[in-house]
Amino acid sequence: MSISADSIAVLRQQLTGDSILTGSEISERYSVDFTGENSQVPLAVVRPKSTEEVALVLKTCSEFVQPVVIQGGLTGLAGGATPLPGEIAMSLERLSGIEEVDTDSMTVTAMAGAPLQVIQEAAENAGFLLPLDFGARGSCHIGGAIATNAGGNQVIRFGMTRNLVLGLEAVLADGTVISSMNKMLKNNAGYDLKQLFIGTEGTLGVITRAVLRLFPRLSSRCTALCAVESFSQSVKLLREAQIKLGSSISAYEVMWSPYFDRVIGHIETLRSPFEKAFPLYVLIETEGSEQNMDSQQFEKVLGSALAENFIEDAVIAQSEKDRETFWAIRDGVSEITKALIPYASLDVSMDIAEMSGFLEEFDAALSSNLPDALNLVFGHVGDNNLHLFITTHRQKDIKKILDLGYGLTGAHGGSISAEHGIGVLKRDYLHHSRTAEEIELMRRLKKALDPKGILNPGRVIPD
Ligand SMILES: Cc1cc2nc3c(=O)[nH]c(=O)nc-3n(C[C@H](O)[C@H](O)[C@H](O)COP(=O)(O)OP(=O)(O)OC[C@H]3O[C@@H](n4cnc5c(N)ncnc54)[C@H](O)[C@@H]3O)c2cc1C
Repeated sequence: MSISADSIAVLRQQLTGDSILTGSEISERYSVDFTGENSQVPLAVVRPKSTEEVALVLKTCSEFVQPVVIQGGLTGLAGGATPLPGEIAMSLERLSGIEEVDTDSMTVTAMAGAPLQVIQEAAENAGFLLPLDFGARGSCHIGGAIATNAGGNQVIRFGMTRNLVLGLEAVLADGTVISSMNKMLKNNAGYDLKQLFIGTEGTLGVITRAVLRLFPRLSSRCTALCAVESFSQSVKLLREAQIKLGSSISAYEVMWSPYFDRVIGHIETLRSPFEKAFPLYVLIETEGSEQNMDSQQFEKVLGSALAENFIEDAVIAQSEKDRETFWAIRDGVSEITKALIPYASLDVSMDIAEMSGFLEEFDAALSSNLPDALNLVFGHVGDNNLHLFITTHRQKDIKKILDLGYGLTGAHGGSISAEHGIGVLKRDYLHHSRTAEEIELMRRLKKALDPKGILNPGRVIPD
């Protein structure tokens, strides 16, 4: 028998019933993440129901030097949870549930396989807000969101997932359970070990439980869509709004006209609220606790932005329906991408001062190398994050587009992954954003925590 067959035979003895799937029992969904790229059936799927079972599986796999890919909700956009040949998949789908909503400490404690939306709803039912939200909320697990340090729509106000995690439990490659289920905001007793597992995409340990921070739910909201002439105007508006509206800004989304026009043209129910076209559009939203006062201040800030020519025009949402329409334009990306296939998608971040230069140079590079390329851009600009969708409709051009885009990101001192992670698909571009010394330190950490290299091998760190 091969090592893999031996390890699976031992796992079968250790786990009961359908906690281990092999052969035709393995459904297609365990073969690939949301990217749909490089689909591969795993040798077996293990579905532990407890931290102890996760530890048992990893101890066995470590003894047999059996590589394991960790799977959450498989909504990842970097190929990290897609099996590589010879791997067993460990799905956290059965390690699901909410253990506690603690209204005194304003925390929620959940198991890693709990879907994000379930935790959001539990927080809401208790009168609180879990300020982590993005399109995959219904399917992604909290463990996956923590492993990828996901961002989303409210980062400008509440930070990335990392800022929301107070405590964590994780299992190391050899089966050791590290329990740091802290609920305190302040805890400087030695190394903050949970950071080893946040954003490291399952390469250093398997997250099994987490304590997340909750916030009071806010009752007032103001939303506007603004038209601006230039990127520098949009930055002026952002800074002006931050000075005058403070931390109440909960979203600041910039859409360049090719993206905006494409969404409006593609989705029949959407119309531009402006009479003429503009080069850029900004969706700005604030949250507070006094609707009348907040609305007055919001209108005042937009009024003075108009008077000072930071914006050309603005429409303030008068109803929840208006707000949904504005957000439907911003979120229209999920509806337009099908018609772009095959396309390259970049999720990059950089200093705001670099963004215009980056976009101009990228457009110039595309027009000289791939003159028929279409480049659609929008971004959480307040978080330094740009999303680009580029297509020539030819698969063979994808690598060239990525080479150009990531090369320029590095040249502008940016990050090739703002929020989606590195996984397998961006691993070979990591050197654009990290020094050789940084990558070497990542290797040393990996070696220290997973000396046999069985956990998510081949992800994040280049060979
Ligand atoms: C429609 C859509 C919208 C999205 N919007 C955003 C967005 O706005 N912002 C953003 O940041 N991301 C976004 N994403 C991507 C986002 O990163 C993932 O949706 C989510 O964070 C991954 O969770 P998952 O449970 O699906 O993980 P998976 O896809 O299963 O795994 C992702 C990575 O985490 C590892 N992993 C999973 N669970 C664990 C665990 N318990 N312990 C250790 N490692 C683990 C996997 O091995 C893999 O490397 C979006 C995705 C989709 C499909």
